[in-house]
Amino acid sequence: MAEELGVQTKRSENFSDWYLEVVRKGDFIDQRSPIKGFDVITPWGYAVWEKIQQHFDSLIKQGGVVNAYFPLFIPENLIKKEEEHFAGFKAETFAVTEAGGEKLEERLFVRPTSETIMYYMYALWIRSHKDLPLRINQWNNVVRFDTKGTKPFIRGREFLWQEAHTAHATQQEADEQVKQAVETYEQSMEKQAIEPLLLVRPKSDTFAGANYSVVMDCLTQDGKVVQGPGTHMLGQNFSKPFNITFLDEKGQQQHVWQTSWGMTTRMIGLNVMQHGDDKGAVLPPEIAPIQVAIVPIMFTGKEDEIKKACESVKENLEKLKLRVHVDYRDYSPGFKFNHWELRGVPVRVEIGPKDVEAGVVTVVKRVDGVKKPIEMAKLREIRKMLKQIQKEMLKKSKKFLRDNTQDARELEKIKNSFGFSRANWCGSAECEKNLKAETGGYEIRGTLYGKKEKPFGPCIQCGKKAEQVVYIAKAY
Ligand SMILES: [Zn+2]
Repeated sequence: MAEELGVQTKRSENFSDWYLEVVRKGDFIDQRSPIKGFDVITPWGYAVWEKIQQHFDSLIKQGGVVNAYFPLFIPENLIKKEEEHFAGFKAETFAVTEAGGEKLEERLFVRPTSETIMYYMYALWIRSHKDLPLRINQWNNVVRFDTKGTKPFIRGREFLWQEAHTAHATQQEADEQVKQAVETYEQSMEKQAIEPLLLVRPKSDTFAGANYSVVMDCLTQDGKVVQGPGTHMLGQNFSKPFNITFLDEKGQQQHVWQTSWGMTTRMIGLNVMQHGDDKGAVLPPEIAPIQVAIVPIMFTGKEDEIKKACESVKENLEKLKLRVHVDYRDYSPGFKFNHWELRGVPVRVEIGPKDVEAGVVTVVKRVDGVKKPIEMAKLREIRKMLKQIQKEMLKKSKKFLRDNTQDARELEKIKNSFGFSRANWCGSAECEKNLKAETGGYEIRGTLYGKKEKPFGPCIQCGKKAEQVVYIAKAY
């Protein structure tokens, strides 16, 4: 991994090439694996995932969800139980037809998601209202033969995620669970300094087998959207075919109400797209695996002194609960600056002979390149600085979303638009389809979650009475 030239492509020239360069050179992913669409998540990218994961895992546990693990394979007969769900995934599934050199009697599907295999078990486990709610999460990998091509993290054929699946006695409790899951994702997004738009998807794009889906759409710097975490109200659509029933307090047999919700390693790519600049990634301090990279500026004869200072600064910063790394490698300082800039480490600390003499360290902020000396006795300022960076990155994301959401009253305004257009829609699937075709790929992403908006004009496509206000954008 010695190749460390800076990023050659500018975001303004070619955002897509810029992104590919950053995730590769920044050690987030390596696409040169022998199977297309099955990428290697390299150590730095994986460490970012672990940060997102650890935070989210502790949040859901506080909310009463527990972790478990279910099998990778799903037998064909099981997948056929819920036809609508299966149909939604059929084109994307990989199937195993042979094992131990023999042809299998029944195909085994590699999970594209785990509803079916988990609900088979839920039917065995749930007997009484006393067994409810049942709330289980898995951290696993899923495989989908994505036909829209591949893009590292954003569209991969195998990805890591968490998938939580809950079962409840009443519809109201399931709706409440959806709300709670959405709030948990909001907290995760805040850590990632990303402001999403919370949308209820139109029927055409609702998760296969769900009553409704609440999805977080995130704007990228090139004005498109990437779908973030999704929460699905499954109603009784799975509990009926899978026969997941319980005896209620009156001794009546009822079907459970269910939800499922997931967040994937796509978030790593989204963070790069959202915060990166022409020098590479810019990570929010809360999810940066290393928050402070110390680069010693070695001088012949002063090595011991500088090393001592580096160790002491590291120790003191660690006492402040910061994640710190000293880069002692035998590369030039310039090479190392570039290395940590590419990876998006929020703060770099340089320590050279002059700094040691003056009792200071030179601190450089990744987000704006601003450099300033900080007294060694006042290292707490670095912690304050990181908090401030986190706050400002989130603020910037909020502003970006706000500034790039515009009302559109005619189709013309949507063509070639940047970000979200807010428009009126009659609700017909035909208008939805025509709109996408006539605008060159802009899609109705959904209606605002948790807030009913009143139409401010007729349907943007057909001119008839509008039923809802929708958000339209071009998606990755
Ligand atoms: Zn219409």
